[in-house]
Amino acid sequence: MKRYQRQAIYAPFGKHGQSRLENTHIMILGAGALGSHCAEILTRMGAGSLTIIDMDVVETSNLHRQAIFDEMDAEQLQPKVIALENKLKLINSNVKITALYQELTNNNIENLLKTYQPDIVIDGMDNFTMRFLINEACHKCQIPWIYGAAVGSKGSVYAIDYTGPCFKCLLETVPQTGESCAINGVLPPVIYQVASMEVSELLRWLSGHGFSKKLITMDSFTIDVKTLNISGLKQHQCPVCKRQHYEYLNQPRTKHVEKQCGNTYLLRFNPSVFNYATLLPTTIVKQNDFAKLMTYQGYQMTLFKDGRMNVYGLDEEADAQQLFLTLNKSVK
Ligand SMILES: [Zn+2]
Repeated sequence: MKRYQRQAIYAPFGKHGQSRLENTHIMILGAGALGSHCAEILTRMGAGSLTIIDMDVVETSNLHRQAIFDEMDAEQLQPKVIALENKLKLINSNVKITALYQELTNNNIENLLKTYQPDIVIDGMDNFTMRFLINEACHKCQIPWIYGAAVGSKGSVYAIDYTGPCFKCLLETVPQTGESCAINGVLPPVIYQVASMEVSELLRWLSGHGFSKKLITMDSFTIDVKTLNISGLKQHQCPVCKRQHYEYLNQPRTKHVEKQCGNTYLLRFNPSVFNYATLLPTTIVKQNDFAKLMTYQGYQMTLFKDGRMNVYGLDEEADAQQLFLTLNKSVK
């Protein structure tokens, strides 16, 4: 097809790769910076179908690095998946887009993979706990996935198949630094580089070349790109890819109070709280069918339709627990 000619005449990808791409179902976990950029590239390239899962609404502070969103989306508190779906449909109406506005948790990830049956999964999340969970769920369902992360000016990408080394193997060797976008910031160029490299791994896999089997790291400020051959990193007693012990997947239930990036806590209420939000002692600043922006005792908060609430400006777990109890009591 003329539309895709320039990519299809690149011989290593070729018509074969293009045909595979047009018949591939890709699940993108997260519609923030990495997820939205991967989705845009794959939509422009003519992917068969994309299923995108995300639970956030667009905020003004996202716009410096999440190129597909605009001020109107932030003003309207648009869920990222809905705003993304609308834009992707304008870019390429041939791609089947399924947008799921919901939280990804240890309770639903396996079911989502089994229900939607993607051929491959792309990581667009922003925390390591979620990536351990994706690692376990994808290993259990035998679905390849591509890890991507960006913080500060640094990024890393690693594509993982069932045979490993898996993400758990890798993290035994490469320790977590505890850095996060909320604390350490993020420089927009590294987002584009990581998202591009995630898509590159996908294109290799699609066109029959297989994953690069390299851990790719880059720094968009010092201008460094390094690769590390990962074949030697497989842990022979890995709990996940050797012993199939899925610690994160099998955790009994989701917590009511959970620490997020920076000084943010996630509180989980019953979904009905969204409809009874006027009973809360909070002040509603702005709202739509998907989210309500509120303030309470100096805290900024966003309440979502499914009962989740992000509270900004909270430092202590004890304060978060107390806030949860106070608010929960008011809607009982
Ligand atoms: Zn492993």
